[in-house]
Amino acid sequence: MLKVAGKQEENPEFATLFFNSSLIFKPGQFIMLWIPEVDEKPYTLSSVSDKKFGITIEAKGIFSKKAISLKKDDLVGIRGPFGNGFTLPKPGDSIAIVAGGCGLAPLAPLLDRINHDRVSITCIHGARSKDYLLFKDRFKFERYFCTDDGSLGHKGFVTDLLKEKIADGNTFNKVYTCGPEIMMHKVFEICEKHNIHCQVSLERYMRCGFGLCGACVCGKEVVCKDGPVFGSEKLRDMEDFNKTALLKSGKEVALDDYFAWRHP
Ligand SMILES: Cc1cc2nc3c(=O)[nH]c(=O)nc-3n(C[C@H](O)[C@H](O)[C@H](O)COP(=O)(O)OP(=O)(O)OC[C@H]3O[C@@H](n4cnc5c(N)ncnc54)[C@H](O)[C@@H]3O)c2cc1C
Repeated sequence: MLKVAGKQEENPEFATLFFNSSLIFKPGQFIMLWIPEVDEKPYTLSSVSDKKFGITIEAKGIFSKKAISLKKDDLVGIRGPFGNGFTLPKPGDSIAIVAGGCGLAPLAPLLDRINHDRVSITCIHGARSKDYLLFKDRFKFERYFCTDDGSLGHKGFVTDLLKEKIADGNTFNKVYTCGPEIMMHKVFEICEKHNIHCQVSLERYMRCGFGLCGACVCGKEVVCKDGPVFGSEKLRDMEDFNKTALLKSGKEVALDDYFAWRHP
């Protein structure tokens, strides 16, 4: 059990909760956040320093709304970190980071961890409008923004910018992506076309967080344990990617119905 040590309101619907505790983790790993008498849900670590870590939450349903309304000193349960995390780039790599909305949360610690003098990075971040772009002042390097309403950067999709960067002659050997699954699937298709290795962070309903219960099975993979990060080799064989997911009841549904599902 940990007390909330602080909260950063990123915008009216996104907040970062901080906890005073040290964690050994790999960028892309997640913790299970338990709010007593509410529920327990997975959240990726969005920042980790020696004695403090943070999770960034977008208010969607009952649980996440409750989470972003937590106050300093409220007590919650934290289990983890769990999952595999991203494979870090090697010196000399040229990578693209493609994030949609709150999808920057797992990618931000990856950006913190990379030696920017030895890895060339193109970071593309999209959101519905400029107020929903996360961590605007966190990074020193240039980022490419896009918004649905054109309030900042390119008006349109992150995938437009990725295609543009490739057409301009940028040769990436790795692309890391997190955001809505339809967006990640498009990024994966672009990578396949251009023979670029891709890593995506998948989201499925989770219960145990360490591969026992089977609630987050996606094709042959257990997302909490084998993932949540999957590389191109696995994605090619993953029939459920961008197609289906399991509800809390275990019933398999189309992905649109999965994201339309609400708690009673
Ligand atoms: C490994 C992992 C890491 C995660 N990391 C984060 C994180 O860092 N930050 C974060 O905010 N969330 C993260 N999530 C999602 C999080 O666990 C919850 O599912 C999310 O906060 C919604 O929970 P809820 O109970 O409030 O909403 P629910 O009641 O589950 O959903 C409410 C409604 O929100 C919509 N909705 C829910 N999820 C999505 C989605 N992904 N895309 C589009 N619409 C959706 C649907 O319309 C749904 O009906 C992660 C999930 C996984 C599996």
